[in-house]
This record gives sequence, structure tokens and C-alpha cells, in this order.
Amino acid sequence: MLLTSLLRIILTRSFRPFEFKNDYENKLEYESLENLGLYVHIPFCRSLCSFCPYCKEKFDKERADLYKVALLKEIELVGKYQKNRKKVTSLYFGGGTPALMIDDLCDIIDRLQQYFEITGGIGIELHPDDIIEVNLQKLKAAGISMVSLGIQSLDEDCLEKLGRSNRDFIQKMDLVKKAEFEVIDVDLIFAIPGQTEETLLNDIDMTFKMGATQVSTYPFIDFTFADNKYKPMGKKKKKKLLRVLSDHCSVCEIKRTSVWTFAKSETKKYSSVTRDAFLGFGVSSTTLLKNTFKINTFSIEEYIKRVDSESLPTALTINFTPRQRAVYYLFWSAYGMELDPVKFNRTLGASPESFFKFELWFAEKIGFVKRERGIYRLTDKASYIYHNVEQAYTTAYIDKMWGLLRLNPFPEKMILK
Ligand code: SF4
Repeated sequence: MLLTSLLRIILTRSFRPFEFKNDYENKLEYESLENLGLYVHIPFCRSLCSFCPYCKEKFDKERADLYKVALLKEIELVGKYQKNRKKVTSLYFGGGTPALMIDDLCDIIDRLQQYFEITGGIGIELHPDDIIEVNLQKLKAAGISMVSLGIQSLDEDCLEKLGRSNRDFIQKMDLVKKAEFEVIDVDLIFAIPGQTEETLLNDIDMTFKMGATQVSTYPFIDFTFADNKYKPMGKKKKKKLLRVLSDHCSVCEIKRTSVWTFAKSETKKYSSVTRDAFLGFGVSSTTLLKNTFKINTFSIEEYIKRVDSESLPTALTINFTPRQRAVYYLFWSAYGMELDPVKFNRTLGASPESFFKFELWFAEKIGFVKRERGIYRLTDKASYIYHNVEQAYTTAYIDKMWGLLRLNPFPEKMILK
């Protein structure tokens, strides 16, 4: 908490916290934005994993049908003001377990395509149980070109700690490879209680060998509202595992594409959050516009009711000051390990130096940042510090926001310090 507060005060040059309110607009200003992405949240799972913080509940067909109707309506409520069909970079389906609504995906994509032209591909998160031939064929037929597989670990002991079991991953990866998706991302968790360097490196080696083009490795985080039996490893151990992972990938010529992701070179990224701007649909989804960030209600009932009344299901909104928006941009650029001044300027209308002249100069001086062809790149040394910042931010901001929204569908306000 102290770390995030200090950073916020220094970078925003203000004691003003991030203040979210429950007032909202029904017309979203996104038509003029470049590099806009789309995200759709499907909040249903076959069973609920103890470690998982995401907004989800057990699948029920009747409820999923009602949810689909509301989702189509929300898309229409957002898109109806558009003058022209808007070009967007990508569409991602996340959850939850989106493939539980696999037969509804075409309708959802069709509705989105009435308003948006998707230029850079469609991605979906898949649970290992979803990986069967018929599903993969349906996904291909729906135009999906990128998949992210929630494998988490290949080690039996680690899986047991996560409440999962090994489900023929080799055969499943084989099926995915044969289906010829452009991007195959695999989610792995590192620093699972009891995990050793050997098991982690074996996980990553096997995953790339089996055909992954990218591996996203998230540290095991014990959210206050999760139901974990096991406590996370200490900070030092977590950091050491990340270092071992990063060193190993660099020897194997696997590129580090963000603080927690690694990819084969010349492959396209699977990335639903590191975007200049995005529109989110469904419960708990977030939307980032020029100066506004908003998050939808977490309650499926309230989501359906609000959309039925022809209003957007927004729970909380923050209107950023220009400096707060610049800090948000800086935060996600640091996660992606590079800050491109041209792109920064495109979003903020000013150079990064006009906001962070001292910070960028200082980061370069102490070896946290290197400038290559005008782009600021985070060094390896700085990436481990950022790994701690990202976890501190997750605990102080995400845990608080999601914790509150799980209890209250439309809170009056929320202050993040
Ligand atoms: S980890 Fe995946 S399958 Fe498990 S509860 Fe979370 S979203 Fe559902």
C-alpha cells in the first residue's frame, strides 16, 4: 500500500487519490480513438477453482441464455450512436470459461461486427476441458485465430495445490496445433507453493515444445476473497523464480515480451489488456477511453436488469486528470517493457518527457531504462522491481476493486490511494 501510494503521489505530483464514482454515461466517446480493442466477458465455469479471482459462477444453461440476450443488448446500446462502422484492432473473449457458450459465440461476434470491423484477429481463453476436436472446429468456423490455454502447470503436485489435475495436456496441445491457430498462448502460474526451479523450467520447456507461441506466467497471488488452502511464497523466492525463468528463456532464444510473458520470435502477441483503448462488454469488464476508465457491475442479475432498462451496466467510473491518464499509460507500458513516445503522444497528445522528464532521465541514469531508436526499454534489472510494483498494485488496487464489486453491484464510490 505504501509503495503504490508513494508512486502515485510522485508520478501524479498530487495527493489526490484515484476516485471512482457511480455516475456514468450511456454514450461512450470512442469513435475517434485509434487502436481500439474489444473484450467480452463470459462469467461461467464448470467448477470454481480456489485460486481464481475472476468474476464467475457455476454454469447454468438458463442463466447463460439470459446473459447472452443482455450481452447482445449491451453491444447494441454501445454501438447504436456510431456514424460509421468502427475499425478495431482485436476482439478477445475471456472469463470464466467462454467455450461454455461456444454455440453463442457466432451470434455475439455477428452483433459486434454490425458495429465494428475487427482487423487484427479474434482470441479466446480455453480451459483444458474445452480442448476437444469438435470445439476447435467450431472456434475456427467462428473466425477465432488466437487461443489462450489455461493450463497453469504440468506438474501433478502443483496442479493438486491449485485444485486441478493433469488432463492429457500433450494430446490436447497436439489437437490445438493441428487446428492451426495463428497464436497459441499458454497460461502458467509460477511460485505455486512448493514449486521448484526444475518443475517450473520443465513446465516452460514442455509448453514451448508442445507448440505454444507464447507463455504468460502469472505469479501465484493470494487474493483476499480467494479460497486458497496454501499461502504464497515469499517475495524473494518469487523474484528468484522469475529470474531463473527469464535467464532460461533468454538462453533458449525465447523473447521476453512483457514482465510476465515470453514468446517465440516473429509471433503475434496474445494480449487483451495492454491496449491504448478498449471497450469491454459483460459483467466485470472494463473500458478505457481517452480520459475515462469504467468497470461494469459484477452481478449478473443487476447486469441484466440495467441493460433491460436501456442503460449501460457501469458500476464505477473515473475521469482521469491528464497526469493520471499519463501514469496509467506509463504503468502498462512498463509492464510491456517499452515506452514508445510516438504512441504515447498519439494517446496523450503530449510527449512522455513533458510528463516524466525527471523520472525518465533518472531511470536511464541508474540503468532501469535504455533508449533504443527513440524507444525507452525497461532493462532486465528494472523488470524485477516492476514485478514487485505490479504485485503491489494488484494487491492494493485490483484486490480492493474486485473485492468491493463482488459485494456491492453498484457502490457509491471507491477511492484508491
Ligand atoms: S481458473 Fe478458469 S476455470 Fe477456474 S474458476 Fe477461474 S475462470 Fe473458472
